[in-house]
Parts: sequence; C-alpha cells; structure tokens
Amino acid sequence: MSTIMQHGYLIIADISGYTSFVAKTELEHSQEILSELLELLVSRFQPTMTISKLEGDAVFAYAPEEVFVCSETLIDFIESMYVAFRDKQLSMKRATTCTCNACRNIPSLDLKFFIHCGDYIRQTIASIKELVGSDVNLIHRLTKNHVTEATGWRAYMMFTEQCLSHNGLNLAHAHVQMEEYESLGEIKTCDLGMDPQPGEAQPVGRRSRDLVRSRPTPGTTRPRLKQSLRARQIRQYRSDGGLASI
Ligand SMILES: [Zn+2]
Repeated sequence: MSTIMQHGYLIIADISGYTSFVAKTELEHSQEILSELLELLVSRFQPTMTISKLEGDAVFAYAPEEVFVCSETLIDFIESMYVAFRDKQLSMKRATTCTCNACRNIPSLDLKFFIHCGDYIRQTIASIKELVGSDVNLIHRLTKNHVTEATGWRAYMMFTEQCLSHNGLNLAHAHVQMEEYESLGEIKTCDLGMDPQPGEAQPVGRRSRDLVRSRPTPGTTRPRLKQSLRARQIRQYRSDGGLASI
C-alpha cells in the first residue's frame, strides 16, 4: 500500500434526473445515453483534471491546486463543460429517430457541479487506486443538499466556502446555503444557477463585472453562460423549424 497526501481541487459532476430517468425509461437506451454523456464529461475533465472514478451517474475528478491559477479559469472550466453537455444533449436528441421513453427524455437530464478544495490521499491497495480523506467525504456528502428545494435550480455549481476563500473568488450575490451533515457539522456553500431560461432578457456584461454584480437569485443564470446556451437554443430552433425541446 502506498499513500501520497496532496492538496487541491475535488469536483463532482453529477447528472441530475438519472434515477427517475432509468426508472421510467427503457433501460437499454437509457444506459447508452448515460454512457455517452459520461464519456463527454470524462473527456472534458481530462487532461486538466484526473478522474478518480465514475460513480454511477457522476464523475469524480481531482487536480492539484496549481491547475486553476485564478477563479476565472475554474469557473470557465465548469461553464464550458456545462455548455458542452447541453450541446451533446441537443445533438443526441437530433440524431435519434427512436421514440422510446429514454430517447424522448434526453432533454430531461441536467448537470450539477460540486466544487471543493481540500486535502486528499491517493491510496493504492492491491493496485486499486482510491482517493480518501475527510474532504473527499465532504464533497460526496454535498451531493445531498437543499439547493434545488430552495432555488428551483436543476443545474448549478456549488462551491464550498473553503474553496472560495482558497481561490479568492468573489461570488458576492451567489445563493448561500447552509447544509448540515452528521459528523461534519454545518457547511456553508455558495451556489450559482446554470439553468437556461428561455425568454429571459440577455444582459451583456464583462466577466469580471458579472462575478461581482450578477444577481443569481433563484431562477437566473450568469449572463455569459446564458448567452451561450441561448445561442444554441436559437440554432436548434432554426434547424428544427420549431421550438427547441431543450
Ligand atoms: Zn430509444
């Protein structure tokens, strides 16, 4: 057995709606759809981050702290992964003529990110590599939270306070959510919604200003991300000759 203690970023990308998707849809196609989406996430994480493991409907990745030199890089990384995920959903939906429940419900899947900064140990036992440590436990506990309940967001990024202070990230108007976990106590998180909001006005703003002045009250999306997603919806609308389903 060998162990190496490191400090860095721990990120979980969790596909929302997976449980009901699998329960309510044809298993064969739902598995194909999910593996394509998971493959996309893995390819977006790499090579910037290392994949620790696939956890059913989620991807768990880590990277040493030097990887994200500034907060902008970290947020850009997450947002571009989310936009790629939405793109992939659109292209999968358009590419299939199958009318099974799984294929029809591709747009119902969404994505949540959990971002924490802390210590982890890369442990190898019998050539099986694993990440362990209390910060590794913490990020997994965060996936059970009350953000959707409080904000209505289906897609969001959740940062721990520890991650924000480490990164010097100022999310002055983010949704703040306290979560309590047995044996970990109260954890303060700052959350940004990513759901596309069709029909909302699209303010144009410079990124540095967005970070401080954006008002991610429940139901709103960061301006630049919203523009990216909206541009894709419009393209989809035109090519389908009707309303986009995403
Ligand atoms: Zn199908």
